[in-house]
Amino acid sequence: MAENKHHEIESLYNDSQHWHVNAGDETIHAKRMAGRFRNYKWYASTLYLLLFILPYFRWEGSQAILFDIPHRQFHFWALTIWPQDIWMLALVLILLAITLFAVTAIAGRIWCGYFCFQTIWVDWFTWIEDKIEGNPIQRRKLDSAPWAGKKIRLKLLKHSLWILISILTGVTFVAYFTDVYGLWYSYLTMDAPLTAWVVLGTLFLFTYVFAGFMREQVCFWLCPYARIQSVMVDKDTEMPTYDILRGEPRGKLRGKDSNERGDCIDCRLCVGVCPTGVDIREGMSEGCITCGMCIDACDSIMDKVDRPRGLIRYASRKEMDGKPLPPLFKRPRVVTYAIILLLSMLGIIYGLTHIPPVELSVVHERQPLFIQMRDGNIKNKYTIKAVNKTPTDLHMRISIETVQGISIATDKDKTAVLKSGKIIPFNVFLIARPEALKEKQTPVRFILESIESPTIRIEYESVFIRGR
Ligand code: SF4
Ligand code: SF4
Repeated sequence: MAENKHHEIESLYNDSQHWHVNAGDETIHAKRMAGRFRNYKWYASTLYLLLFILPYFRWEGSQAILFDIPHRQFHFWALTIWPQDIWMLALVLILLAITLFAVTAIAGRIWCGYFCFQTIWVDWFTWIEDKIEGNPIQRRKLDSAPWAGKKIRLKLLKHSLWILISILTGVTFVAYFTDVYGLWYSYLTMDAPLTAWVVLGTLFLFTYVFAGFMREQVCFWLCPYARIQSVMVDKDTEMPTYDILRGEPRGKLRGKDSNERGDCIDCRLCVGVCPTGVDIREGMSEGCITCGMCIDACDSIMDKVDRPRGLIRYASRKEMDGKPLPPLFKRPRVVTYAIILLLSMLGIIYGLTHIPPVELSVVHERQPLFIQMRDGNIKNKYTIKAVNKTPTDLHMRISIETVQGISIATDKDKTAVLKSGKIIPFNVFLIARPEALKEKQTPVRFILESIESPTIRIEYESVFIRGR
């Protein structure tokens, strides 16, 4: 008997024809129910509300979080990331990607269910729809009703709120790239630059259409993550799963043979609450975003029919087959992800704690490499490019370390002012008696020290070229 059921599970898991795909021909009106996983979804979406207010935070008179593209700087409160530090961005991207892989390997599409922009925005939009148009039955009725007073009024209100959220989404996105107060002013006075209008229009359109109309179709047909998730999960991945051994044969609560039936009373509430219209009893499907709404729904039914909760629950294929779940440290995939995560995190921490206040490069003049002067001395020209990453101007003392006989040509070249946040190249000339130079190329170390803050000291290796 149990053997037969295991075969049944296998065929349900493997047979994709069991998944009925709604290809957009009908609007899914999912029922909203209170429950544990609904609460988790609210907590996660509250985090997104932060995105709307973060651009308004200030730090030392400027926007605290700002991607300042014209000046090629990224400000994050006291931290400023320069193009020279951009290697950290690669580590951040690796960190995010590996976190996604690791979370998917452990608990399926948690990202889709709780944190994805698309599903969060759809959840807000459908919450508004639910509040204005009523529950799914009322909404379907309203959809099929002729266009008249009440329908027009309700639809207008709903779409106005959707449009408002879509505009706010667009403005908020742009606000991360420019001063938010100036941005609002320029939009309200219709004086914003064309780029700001184009980005706002694009974001508005995508939000309104994707969250309001396309909804789960975006997950099904546009999102690449849904396509590749199958290679990230394995038999140990815990996902919302219907306990087929316990639930089948399903059937109504009362009636003939009801004692021989499984715990599933075939009420279809789990399907009714699913935002993607999936029937989880048909096995794992590409459409399941692992939001857990069906778990809440089924638990509420099990409470009512006095059966234990968990007919649908987070479980792995192995657990469902009666095998124990291995600990995370015994799963090679999870361990590999954890190591990469740790390394990228260490790299980012190192990078953030070692951002130099001044970045220096010294370029030796190539045309000509050297000049022989009338008095016989050899002169080399260098272009110094220094980025002052501190918030104040720095007065720098310039010196060199090299063999005796090479010196800075004039006193004027021994100091420089580095403007805060600017790269203003300047030239320095070195001079030497030819007889003091044993080699064609002599190593020279340039040293720049701040007069105000002696702890700011940077060095750069170059060479002095004698020629023949
Ligand atoms: S909610 Fe539970 S009892 Fe109802 S159909 Fe779904 S699995 Fe069966
Ligand atoms: S099947 Fe359950 S977990 Fe999957 S998307 Fe539907 S409600 Fe969410």
